[in-house]
This record gives sequence, structure tokens and C-alpha cells, in this order.
Amino acid sequence: MDVLDILIIGGLVYLLTKSQTNENENLPAPAANKNAAELARVNPVLREKAQFVIDEMARRGYVVVVAEGLRSNAVQAKYYAQGRTTAGAIITYKKGGESEHNKGRAVDFDFIVNGRQSNSLSNNWALLGQIAKSAGLTWGGDYKKLKDYRHVEI
Ligand SMILES: [Zn+2]
Repeated sequence: MDVLDILIIGGLVYLLTKSQTNENENLPAPAANKNAAELARVNPVLREKAQFVIDEMARRGYVVVVAEGLRSNAVQAKYYAQGRTTAGAIITYKKGGESEHNKGRAVDFDFIVNGRQSNSLSNNWALLGQIAKSAGLTWGGDYKKLKDYRHVEI
């Protein structure tokens, strides 16, 4: 087996080999597959716009993946509890069922950096936001409070 690269996405390790074919020629196959899986579950308008962001970022040399798209109300309730009834900092003002993620109208991106999924602030979120807004998406980096650089929604 001729391993070209190793990717770790969502805790899973992928070996890229010469025999693997890419769905999107600009992205490593695991990233393209992850994006396809997440985008299949969201609103079709968002799907098209998020794919535009992925493609435009790829044209500029960045691999981005949809870390989370559609989210259950239970998971949102867990996020809302953080910093209120459970440990950690407050990360959302939206209760279970209130987030655009619960309606399939929002996705969160991560970058792939050195083969690993990254939500670091050092990533080029400004570029991602600029491209997202050019597609008519609302970008979480523009929020007044709790800036959410990974987040876009229709
Ligand atoms: Zn989000």
C-alpha cells in the first residue's frame, strides 16, 4: 500500500492511498466524504452555499470540513447547559430546538491543518467569513457577542 497522507478527522484515522479516488479533486477523500455526509442532511440552499465555501477555500489552498451540520435538540440542550448547569464556559444562548443547527440551516467548519481537524483561532477564518458572506450566508464571526468563527447559516 502506497500511503500518500494520513488524516485524522473526528477521531478517525484515514490513510490516503493512490488507489483512493477523490469525489472533489481539490480535497482529500476523507474530507470530501465527510462534507458530503454532513451536507446531505442540511437544507438544500445551505448545502449549495456551504459547498461553494468549501470549493472557494480549496481554490485558495485551504481544506475545510463541515464539523457539524444538523444537530439534535438533545445535543443543543447539552451545549446550552455548558457554563450554566455543567462545567465550562458558556458557548451558546440557544436552548435545545432553538438553534439553526436543529433546523438544518447552519453548519460549523473546521480546517484541516497538517492532516488534523482544527478549530484554532489561528486559521484563516476571516477569509472563510468573507467567502461565506459573498454567498449570502450569515457568518458567526460577525456576531457581537460569542463570536462563532466556525459557524455559517442561511
Ligand atoms: Zn454553529
